[in-house]
Amino acid sequence: MRITVDPGLCYGSGECVYRLPSVFTVVDGFGAVIPGHENAGDDPEVREAAEKCPSQAITVGE
Ligand code: SF4
Repeated sequence: MRITVDPGLCYGSGECVYRLPSVFTVVDGFGAVIPGHENAGDDPEVREAAEKCPSQAITVGE
């Protein structure tokens, strides 16, 4: 499943990177998915990072 980060919601807390640095990074102050990992949404750790994002900026879907 595809992971997306909405830069309109993200405020750059970096929590997603702290939780899962193999998938998330920060670009220009906003959370982003490391290229090549966009379809890693089936990983339970990705789902947890999405749930724990303080601004609900991470979406995991088709
Ligand atoms: S946890 Fe959420 S608010 Fe924080 S950097 Fe990641 S996407 Fe942005």
